[in-house]
Amino acid sequence: MDKERRLAKGETIVEEDGTTLTLERLREESRRQYLKARQEREVTLLKQSLEDEEELFRDQKISETEKKRIELGRKIIKMVQKNENEEEEDVQDGFYRLPDEYDENQTKSKQNQALLSSRYRETKEEKSEQELWEESQTQKAAGRKKKPKKDENEKEYDLVFDDQIDFVMQETTKGYDKRGKGKLSPEIGKELAVVKKEQEALVLTEHEKILEGRRKLPVFPYREEFLAAVKDQQILVLVGETGSGKTTQIPQYLHEIGYSELGKIGCTQPRRVAAMSVAARVAQEMDVRLGHEVGYSIRFENCTSKSTLIQYMTDGMLLREILTEPDLASYSCMVIDEAHERTLHSDILFGLVKDIVRFRKDLKLIISSATMDAEKFSKYFDDASIFMIPGRMFPVDIFYTKSPEADYVDAAVVTCLQIHVSQPLNGDILVFLTGQEEIETASEILTQRTRNLGSRIKELMICPVYANLPSEQQAKIFEKTPKGARKVVLATNIAETSLTINGICYVIDTGFNKQKSFNAKTGMESLVVTPVSQAAANQRAGRAGRTQPGKCFRLFTAWSFQHELEPNTIPEILRTNLGNVVLMLKSLGINDLLHFDFMDRPPADALIRALEQLYALGALNDHGELTKLGRRMAEFPLEPMLSKAVIVSEKYECVSEVLSTVSMLSLGASVFYRPKDKAIHADTARLNFARGGGGDHISLLRCYSEWAATDYNNGWCIENFVQVKSIRRARDIREQLEGLCERVEIDHKVSKPDDLDAILKAITAGFFYNVARLGRTGDYRTVKQHKTVFIHPSSVLAKEEQPPPWLLYFELAFTTKEFMRQVAPIKPEWLVEIAPHYYQQSD
Ligand code: ADP
Ligand code: MG
Repeated sequence: MDKERRLAKGETIVEEDGTTLTLERLREESRRQYLKARQEREVTLLKQSLEDEEELFRDQKISETEKKRIELGRKIIKMVQKNENEEEEDVQDGFYRLPDEYDENQTKSKQNQALLSSRYRETKEEKSEQELWEESQTQKAAGRKKKPKKDENEKEYDLVFDDQIDFVMQETTKGYDKRGKGKLSPEIGKELAVVKKEQEALVLTEHEKILEGRRKLPVFPYREEFLAAVKDQQILVLVGETGSGKTTQIPQYLHEIGYSELGKIGCTQPRRVAAMSVAARVAQEMDVRLGHEVGYSIRFENCTSKSTLIQYMTDGMLLREILTEPDLASYSCMVIDEAHERTLHSDILFGLVKDIVRFRKDLKLIISSATMDAEKFSKYFDDASIFMIPGRMFPVDIFYTKSPEADYVDAAVVTCLQIHVSQPLNGDILVFLTGQEEIETASEILTQRTRNLGSRIKELMICPVYANLPSEQQAKIFEKTPKGARKVVLATNIAETSLTINGICYVIDTGFNKQKSFNAKTGMESLVVTPVSQAAANQRAGRAGRTQPGKCFRLFTAWSFQHELEPNTIPEILRTNLGNVVLMLKSLGINDLLHFDFMDRPPADALIRALEQLYALGALNDHGELTKLGRRMAEFPLEPMLSKAVIVSEKYECVSEVLSTVSMLSLGASVFYRPKDKAIHADTARLNFARGGGGDHISLLRCYSEWAATDYNNGWCIENFVQVKSIRRARDIREQLEGLCERVEIDHKVSKPDDLDAILKAITAGFFYNVARLGRTGDYRTVKQHKTVFIHPSSVLAKEEQPPPWLLYFELAFTTKEFMRQVAPIKPEWLVEIAPHYYQQSD
């Protein structure tokens, strides 16, 4: 260090052997020594841990009670094995290759046509509510008189709803549980009962229970082999069923064996919620405080510290880290988790880390994925070895609706109640919906209906899960279901593979998710509710068979599954606006995008569009190089259009206002709360923010500023139907953006609160692409592509009697129509002033 400082000052240092020391040589030398030390350390660590079987637990705190329980557990296994007289399971089975079941696990049609229930089928459209009610009453009476046969699926069906859905059972997925299934002989059974009792008598503390749980995960028996493989290989593709323990255990194993002494262990997640929830879980398992040894970092929230050894983060955050630390020097291992999701950020990460491991031979890279596409990952990473964790999977019966369902949210609720009253209580329900709004609607209807049914049905615990869910509520989904009740988890596709909730036996699959979709020709990007792929539907179904045989109810027809669903989900990189990606790669110094090692190359025209857009925004120059503006834009973890608005706000002297607006826009979900029973009050409160003009953008700004003026008062939020959690997040985001402004030397305090034009002009400087004009027919059309678009009903301008002739929109969302979300009125002359190159021949 000292020598380095001296050299940096320009001093000449002559070494003992007479050679002159250069800065490069010094660094090279220290790096070599460091690597050597690392390698030596690694070897001893692994040697120590493999010494004998008891060493399996060496790094894990294990109590005497539990040791005893494990011994008894081994005894039980031996007894069962003796009973079955089966060959010992080959432990090597899953190692470095895919087991035979891999292909067979695909759904196989049994042609088994069994009806779950068709007795109460009504066609909703054809009958009046009155008729439906009468019919249901008659059926109820009939049901009471003549109890239906106690068919497995139909018992307790004397409880009648207005509407029911017909399902057809089509097939059963093949289970592959390898544990003993044979009947026990009476003697062994008796013996076993004694041992089991003895085992139960050993009471564990809460934390010991958690540790015991860790050892029951499918990945645990493969801990040593896995660590040995990591030692041998620099890159490993890890494959295992969802719930086998990849995300929570692998980083801990790496830590336990000592890799964390060489550098942090990183693990990326495609979703914020997953990163937070998994980090919390691992901190609990390790009995440390979240944010200390185990932490997470997600956009706008850093919950790590100097002592952090295991760091979970979103894949987007790792990309940002690579900007400041191109060789990931602070990490010894990096797990790119949920690789099969193929998010945009993961895909870029693949290309970058593939390059990093070439010059950082000491960095261990683990690409972890659910059982899909393993071969493809292996091939991409220069034929990396595949480490397979053999999973346990029970058979799942797959049911389809007989006819398509028009309203899948309603259908999901009905199915949920159908399951609740007809199926045994010891199995929770997981419902896949597309987003927060739908989940909230479903939750409301479900609450209402169960309330109406009162004590006639058993308790139903309703737990929503989606990206912006506050963390206290996240914890609720993992709580054990109380006796006599059933849990219903209403989730987005986050529960498809990222989060595993134990105890799920029934899956209701609406068959949809929300996906970004991008039209490269028009350059338009929008969020669209899209049918899922067959692979995703199968993954969802699998969630029902984790702990016992399960059932999956698909709210679409078998025909639709076969003919309308794509076999695999299209990677995000092929359907997204690449603006951000290009900006990021350019700022990483990767200029030749056409030769970047993409796993799936995005279409050339999409890349060109992105380059054009960045050029139009002024982020790139004529040679396609990053401009000063572009470099500053890349500092912000925002879409290029938003970061441009922030930077331009300096010129219009309204940085403070634009920061607030951008923070509110970045929430991704509505900050306003609209309870059904107080909808009018909520709407009034909202429209109050709109008074004075400026559309949604300025309403959001007023909302934020008024709240800030009350010194961030919670009571104010409740009075104004503003979600406290969301707006607090906006405050966090704003604080971070302030910090980033400092980095690029923008004074974030500059403010012009009353100059709405200035604020909207700054926003226009970023969003001049997203402009629509009112036509003579009364419809809006986008200015460049002439596409018909509509103001989203949630906008404050939705019910305006005189809609503004020119609008700027934040984003498009396609549901029933192409809707513009968050709109603001602008003046056409601004466009020519702000983006003359784009609007010179303005139409
Ligand atoms: P994988 O990554 O292979 O899908 P995980 O490591 O995510 O598996 O999950 C392993 C186990 O840990 C699962 O049984 C899951 O239910 C449990 N688990 C994960 N997160 C939590 C949590 N926050 N609370 C309770 N249990 C959890
Ligand atoms: Mg996982």
